[in-house]
Order: sequence, then structure tokens, then C-alpha cells
Amino acid sequence: MKNVITIDGPSGSGKGTVSKILARKLGYRYLDTGALYRAVAWKVQKKNISPDDEESLGKLLDTTVIKFEGLKILVDGTDVSAAIRTAEIGELSSQVSAMPIVRKGLFSMQRKMGLEGNVVIEGRDTGTAIFPESENKFYLDATTEERARRRYEELKLRTPEITLKQTVEDIKKRDRRDSSRASSPLMRTDDMIHIDSTGMSVEQVVSFILDRLT
Ligand code: C5P
Repeated sequence: MKNVITIDGPSGSGKGTVSKILARKLGYRYLDTGALYRAVAWKVQKKNISPDDEESLGKLLDTTVIKFEGLKILVDGTDVSAAIRTAEIGELSSQVSAMPIVRKGLFSMQRKMGLEGNVVIEGRDTGTAIFPESENKFYLDATTEERARRRYEELKLRTPEITLKQTVEDIKKRDRRDSSRASSPLMRTDDMIHIDSTGMSVEQVVSFILDRLT
């Protein structure tokens, strides 16, 4: 499978920015799987559900309609594209994503969207669990400090009280949780091309990937 490109990596590795540009250059669709977890977290917060309440999470997934419209994401018809980008929803999405019932619910959605082909799919388990059969798998990384700095620049626009120190702590905590969870943890495998983007520009990362597509 060549026309499903997977890009995995930790928070702030630049996979969102890179995937969007890559998809545009190739004329492919872009699938941001993190936005799906954030959308679930948004509804969990709205309904005041505990992130470890399996039963309520299961019901919530069964009754929630999540849809992409271009780069927008809608939850039950409401555009939540901006609301899901806060530090609070980031933390909550990491908590709900550790719950197998949530991963299972979002698995089929991601498979279905990806199987239409010509897609760049980006997240934490897209090359390991969602499209393990892809022949174009990448793992994008950068040092913790660089990733925290990028995340901080993004977050302070919406959360002015956030500090760089707090962002470093948050990133470390999320890295630990995303890599150590039992259900499809963030993992770099031998069949992924590894890119350390520290000190690289977005354009450099994009052309590195374009040069290696099969
Ligand atoms: O990439 P982003 O920060 O938007 O992802 C939000 C959270 O969703 C991550 O911290 C991670 O816990 C979870 N996630 C995941 N699997 C994916 C994508 C995101 O567990 N494929």
C-alpha cells in the first residue's frame, strides 16, 4: 500500500504542519488523528464524564458523530476546530486516548477514512496499528526542548497564561503516557523512516519525505 502515507511522532514533532504541506503537494487528503482524540475529549469535558469511566465513554462514542470538512472538524455538527486546540483539551485527549474503548471506537473510523486512499495520515499509531501495511511510513521526532518551544509558540496564542516551563513539563508527561500505555503505544518501528527535525525547516522535512516515497 503506497498511497497511504503514515507519519507518527510525539507532541510538537511538527507532524501536523509537515503532513498538511505534504498532502497539499501530492494532492492527497490530510487526516489528523490527534484531532479525533481531541474531539472526543471536547465532548467528554462538555458532558462532564470522567476520562476513565469506560461505560460512559463507550456510550459517548456510540452516539457521537465526528466529521472532517476540509481542515475543519465537527462534533455533532458543531465546529470545534479552535476549541480543541487548548492545553486543557490536549491533556484530556491524552488521558482518554489511553482507554482501549476509545482507541477501538476511533480505529474503524480512521481505517475507513484512510482506505479511500491518497491520504497522509498523522498521529501516534498510524504506522503501527491503523495502517501497518503502508509502504510509506515515517517517524518524526525532535528534542524535548525543541518540541516544547514549538508547542509553546502555538499554545500561547490561545492560552496567554501558559509558560515555557509548564509546556516542557506537559510534553514530558504526555510523552510518558503516550509511550507507556498498553493499547497501541507511540512506538518507532524498524520499517519507519526516522527523521530528527531538530534544526530542520519545515520545507527541509517535507522534501526529505518526498525524496523517500516509494
Ligand atoms: O497530536 P495531538 O497533540 O493533537 O494529539 C492529542 C492526543 O491524542 C495525544 O496526546 C495522544 O495521547 C492522542 N493520540 C493518540 N493516537 C493518535 C493521535 C493522538 O493516542 N493516533
